[in-house]
Amino acid sequence: MAPTKTDDTILELNNVTRTFGAFKAVRGVSLKIRRGEFVTLLGPSGCGKSTILRMIAGFETPNSGTIRMNGADISKKRPFERAVGLVFQNLALFPHLNVFDNVAFGLRAHGVGKAEISDKVMAMLGLVDLADFAHRPVGRISGGQRQRVALARSLVTEPDVLLLDEPLSALDLKLRRQLQTELKTIQQKTGITFIFVTHDQEEALSMSDRIAVMNAGLVEQFSPAVETYHFPQTEFVARFVGETNLFHGRLATDDGGKRVLRFDDPPFEMALPENLPEDLPEDPPEFAPGQAVALSVRPEHVRIEAADGAGDCVRHTGQVVSHSFSGASLTYTIRTGGRDVLAQAVFRPGGRHPLPVGEAVTIGWDMDQVRLIPASPQRQEH
Ligand code: ATP
Repeated sequence: MAPTKTDDTILELNNVTRTFGAFKAVRGVSLKIRRGEFVTLLGPSGCGKSTILRMIAGFETPNSGTIRMNGADISKKRPFERAVGLVFQNLALFPHLNVFDNVAFGLRAHGVGKAEISDKVMAMLGLVDLADFAHRPVGRISGGQRQRVALARSLVTEPDVLLLDEPLSALDLKLRRQLQTELKTIQQKTGITFIFVTHDQEEALSMSDRIAVMNAGLVEQFSPAVETYHFPQTEFVARFVGETNLFHGRLATDDGGKRVLRFDDPPFEMALPENLPEDLPEDPPEFAPGQAVALSVRPEHVRIEAADGAGDCVRHTGQVVSHSFSGASLTYTIRTGGRDVLAQAVFRPGGRHPLPVGEAVTIGWDMDQVRLIPASPQRQEH
C-alpha cells in the first residue's frame, strides 16, 4: 500500500445533528475529510466526539444531516456495509486466540483464502513490529503490544477510513508517546484515512494533519495542527489548545480618529495591528467598532525583563507570584494589575532563572506574536 494523500474528499459530514431526548449531543457538524488525511476530533469530555465516530461507523443514526463516503450517502447503510475500521480504548481482542488469529479474524469472516490471509496478516504484523509474536496468546503480551494487535486487526481488512476512539488513553505516558509516533508512521505508510478522537491536545498536535476542535456539540475550528495552535479563531480554541493568557477589551477610536484596542485588566491601549503576519490563515477576523475582543498571548511569548527594562513591545510591571520547573523551561505566574499572567522562560543552569518570588519585573510581548480574536458570545452580550 502506498501513501495516497490527495486533496479529494473521502468523507463528508453535512450539517449532522444527533439528539438524545432533549439533549443535543451533536449540533450541526459539517466536515470534509481528505483521502489519506490524519484528522483528530479534539475536545473535552462529553462534547460529542464519540457520537460523531459512532455515526460514521453506523452504530448511531443522525437525526438530520448526511454522511457521504466516496461521494455516496452512507447514512442509511448498516455498519458492516461501510468500509470503516474501528479501534477503541477497550480493545475487545479475543483472549483465547493468539496474535495471528486475532488479526486474521476479519479476513476469515470475509472468506479470504488461507494463503492470502497468511500473507496479509504477516505483512501487517511486520508493519506493527509484531512478526515475532504471531503465535503468542494475546494474554501474554504487553499493553502496548495488544494495542498494536488491535491496530493490525483493523488495518488488515484495508478499510477506506479507520476510526480510533481514544485508543492510547489507558497506556502510561512514555508508551503513549512511543505509540503516537508509531501510529503516525503506520498511517503514513498505509495511506489510510485516520479519524482519531482524543481530549489530549498534545496528542492531537503531535499526530494530526488537521484538528477539529469541538465544544458542546459543535466544531469551533477545523484547521492544520500548526494553525490551530498559532491562529486560534475562538477563545475556547485558544484556551483548550495549549496554555494562553487572554486579555479582554474593545475596539475603540482614539481622539485622533485612529482605531485602538482598549483592555481592562491590566488597563492598556494598543493600536490595532495593521501589518498582519504573512502566514495568517485565509480569513482573518474583521472587527467592528465597539466589538468585544480577546488578545491571546502564549506564555512562551511573554518576555520577562528587569523592572526598568526597555523595549518596543507592550509592557506591564508586575511581581513574581510563583514558578514551576518542567525540565527545559520554567513557568512563572506574574501578578500585574488585578490578574495573573503566565510567562515561560528557558531554563539554563547558572542563568538568571528562577527569579525569586516577590521579585519586581516588567513583562511584555511583541505584537506580531499575539492573536486578536472575537470575544466569546457571552462576553459580546455584556
Ligand atoms: P468522552 O471524551 O467523555 O468520551 P465525547 O466527547 O466522546 O466524551 P460523547 O460520548 O459523544 O462525548 O457524548 C456526548 C454527549 O451525549 C454526552 O453528554 C453523553 O452523555 C451524551 N450521550 C452519548 N450517548 C448517549 C446515549 N446513548 N444516550 C443518552 N446520552 C448520550
